Amino acid sequence: MSLIRLLPPTVANQIAAGEVVERPAAVVKELLENSLDAGATRVIIDFSRGGKASMIIEDNGQGMTPEDAAMSLQRHATSKIRLASDLDRIATFGFRGEALPSIASVARFTLQTRPSSSTSGWEIAVNAGRILHQRELGMAPGTRIEVTNLFHPVPARLKFLKSDETEAAHIIRLVRLYAISHPEVGFLLREDGREIFRSPGQVPLLERVRAIWGQQVAEEVSLMPLFERSGMRLSGLLGKPGVSRGTRQDLVTVVNGRPVDSRTMAFALTESYHTLIPKGRYPLAFAFLEIDPAWVDVNVHPAKREVRFRDESRVRGFIIESVLSFLRSQGGDGLPRQTITPIETPVPLSIEPAHTPMAPSPLVAQPAPTTSISSPVTSSVRLGWKFLHRLRGDKALFETPTGFAILNIGFAHQRVLYESILQQFSEQKTVSQPLLVSVHLELDPLPAAVLKEKLEFLTTAGFSFEEYGRHFWRIVALPTWLNPDVALSFIRDLLGEMARREGDFGRPTLAHDALAKMAVQRAYRKGDTLSDAELLALVQSLFQTTQPGTDPKGRRTYLEWTDADLDRRFG
Ligand code: ADP
Ligand code: MG
Repeated sequence: MSLIRLLPPTVANQIAAGEVVERPAAVVKELLENSLDAGATRVIIDFSRGGKASMIIEDNGQGMTPEDAAMSLQRHATSKIRLASDLDRIATFGFRGEALPSIASVARFTLQTRPSSSTSGWEIAVNAGRILHQRELGMAPGTRIEVTNLFHPVPARLKFLKSDETEAAHIIRLVRLYAISHPEVGFLLREDGREIFRSPGQVPLLERVRAIWGQQVAEEVSLMPLFERSGMRLSGLLGKPGVSRGTRQDLVTVVNGRPVDSRTMAFALTESYHTLIPKGRYPLAFAFLEIDPAWVDVNVHPAKREVRFRDESRVRGFIIESVLSFLRSQGGDGLPRQTITPIETPVPLSIEPAHTPMAPSPLVAQPAPTTSISSPVTSSVRLGWKFLHRLRGDKALFETPTGFAILNIGFAHQRVLYESILQQFSEQKTVSQPLLVSVHLELDPLPAAVLKEKLEFLTTAGFSFEEYGRHFWRIVALPTWLNPDVALSFIRDLLGEMARREGDFGRPTLAHDALAKMAVQRAYRKGDTLSDAELLALVQSLFQTTQPGTDPKGRRTYLEWTDADLDRRFG
């Protein structure tokens, strides 16, 4: 007797279901994709108990004849491709012909469908892969599928389900993603009959985000114009600088109308925000990429949403370039430009640490011009910010032409210093101060090795060292922005950082950036060391920087309330 047998179809389907249907949200995904593939312009999704009790997806798409309906429950039955070569240009979501039979094999499943050419609909009820009945019924054109008792036929899988709340969260997130990806389709999502969101088709993207993600998120994004280059188009909504998230939850990427996980896109977006949000956090984005389908690999794991691009670096470059040019055009803060008029006060090029007196250090041969945060008080009139009051915690209150603003003095100063240092680097005219009395530096082997390796870079940054024995060095000159009193500890820290974060200091531009950030950390001034006039000058300088809205770590430099905001709050 032969030991090898063909699996009965139901068992084969249940095994396939293990891949296709991981959890209730995966069922919703498959059914939703079928509705969209069927050309629906309206989809209603209802679920109960996280989808464990029931899921109903109803559409107004093209529907199926009774023959097609029966066929759709057969394994590898699909209307979407015929030849393997069709795989190269898939425009639909489905193509495996596995979803319906898989789902029907692990649940109670009722399909009702009617093409607009028929006068009546057709219902097929299935339990655990076995057909219970088929019959005619009256219904509007379209398809309605109800799935109940998910995984009851395969109890082993039931215990992998998480709480109702968790499963519901997955369903809601999934439907949100599809709803945002399909602006032409109206969506209604309900849990136990209670509306979670409703988003009509054909409305502007921002309205759609407001309907699906809510008012708060809609206020945190701004509309990006369409960017286009060599067959790629990018559009969408991007978070305002300073707005960030601890996870990639709200970093939504859509490729050719398909919500996807793309490491390349997520990385490119995050990288573009660079100094606008804190390290390790993610921007908020709804980014839509259109690209020749032949450049995208979609034939990945059925339950995964990951895509790969044939030319990742090209996509990455295009996104970074587009997003950066958009952020620049926004002045980095997404606030109305008209409240800020350009001023001539130069950005201060020299800084002193907070904790040392402003007088030039005796060690400096030629004193650096002391902090140039000083300019006529009248300039505030031109900017439109009027200083009102100092607040606790290094903050100050200003009246603005449109309301009022609270400035974080330290953060604002960091932004100004950061850009002035970077500017020196980019103009390659870092001013170096020779020291009258050189400072001795004794180093451990590792930092000593780093110093030797990075000597050239440090020289371009305005430092000058002389070696006078194994691990013994003399500091003979410093960049003007560094106070000699704190030079020693700064250099030790810098070498430590360079050893630890090799990548960040690997290329000159990155290294300059990292260095500027460190310098700023050390050297910015607290508000109580500034006079009122200096405070106003700081605001002037802040608005001359490229990103006045955030400090180099991406923290907000000021918060603004408009009169309209206030009126709304007073209701
Ligand atoms: P696939 O989507 O990979 O083709 P499915 O098992 O998901 O496989 O669906 C099988 C077939 O059933 C589809 O190719 C399509 O012809 C039909 N079908 C499924 N859902 C719908 C629907 N909502 N409206 C119209 N036809 C559908
Ligand atoms: Mg499908």
